Amino acid sequence: MARKCTVCEHEKVEEINRLLLEGVSLRNIAKQYFVSAASLHRHKEGHLPAKLVKAQEAQEIAKANNLLDPVVGLRDKALSILATAEQAGDLKTALQGIKEARACLELLARLQGELQERTTVNVLVNPQWITLRTVILKALDGYPEARQAVARALREVESNVVGQ
Ligand SMILES: [Zn+2]
Repeated sequence: MARKCTVCEHEKVEEINRLLLEGVSLRNIAKQYFVSAASLHRHKEGHLPAKLVKAQEAQEIAKANNLLDPVVGLRDKALSILATAEQAGDLKTALQGIKEARACLELLARLQGELQERTTVNVLVNPQWITLRTVILKALDGYPEARQAVARALREVESNVVGQ
């Protein structure tokens, strides 16, 4: 099909698509944007669905990227905790701390995923997060160095979340 779609090529194609989705009649759109109702019909049946799927995919990808950010931060934190552990010679405890911190971040990521829209909801006041945070720090009570490192990592992660 060599024939070009006058609607796809229209400079106001986004607006036209929106009106089509809102169910505005083809005749009205045709009049407003100087395209034929037949072109609009062809576009609506043939091109619009594919466009919608693409737009949705782009949104999903963007969402996934947002979730990745804290995980990347975690990796850095884990490495710095590991360094502290090596210095303190208490590798076992620190590794435990890393595991716990990772669990925290996984929860955080999941919570963020559940936040449907861009509205600023503060996940840090979520009761599950607060409980988990307290449990982790308490578990490390006997290991002040590891506890400090984990607490610091948590604080950094939390300030990153607030800053987003
Ligand atoms: Zn089209």
